[in-house]
Amino acid sequence: MSDWAFYKTPKFIQKLFPSLNWRVNTYEKVIYPTFDDGPIPELTPDILNILRHYNAKATFFCVGENIKKHPKIFKSILDDGHAIGNHTYNHLKAWKTDDNEYLHNVLLCQTEIEKHITYQKKLFRFPYGQFNLRLARKLKKEDYELIMWDVLSKDYNISISADRILKKSIAYSEGGSIIVFHDNLKAKDKILQFLPLYLKHFSDIGYKFKKL
Ligand SMILES: [Zn+2]
Repeated sequence: MSDWAFYKTPKFIQKLFPSLNWRVNTYEKVIYPTFDDGPIPELTPDILNILRHYNAKATFFCVGENIKKHPKIFKSILDDGHAIGNHTYNHLKAWKTDDNEYLHNVLLCQTEIEKHITYQKKLFRFPYGQFNLRLARKLKKEDYELIMWDVLSKDYNISISADRILKKSIAYSEGGSIIVFHDNLKAKDKILQFLPLYLKHFSDIGYKFKKL
């Protein structure tokens, strides 16, 4: 696959799986930042500070066991007005997990989320982007909106520099884009470097950042 395809989800893939949400249907100057895998005390508070500085709202796809371990950090995400999505309880791989076990793990995460939130639409993102259509159908039946992305920052990849991630993320983002960042230790050093620059770039040209 070309370098291009790794960062920007090709249109034919988006069309092939229309039950998944790859982007928001708008070309207005709005970008939807998403942060997967948190909350963790080592990084989430820094991300929240950066977002606050740019008056940006985002969606955090949290791992249930991290919410359980770090309820105060989780609450600070909510206090800042961001949206929460479900990312399973144990960050499971769909291609290596039995469907029933997977669905049970999603439910465990949702239960953890709903200890803190009274009402919010149910958002779900497959860890590693691994899905199958059977699972997708079952999750949709349970009222989850399945959120993929059209821009992958690859901030977790230690062989790609922060500068390159910044340039690619800027080049591939457009109105309606859903971009993935990672609220995890692998991404930490880089995200702190490029996230403020990414947000500044788009703020300066009139974009807003919203939650899903
Ligand atoms: Zn993840």
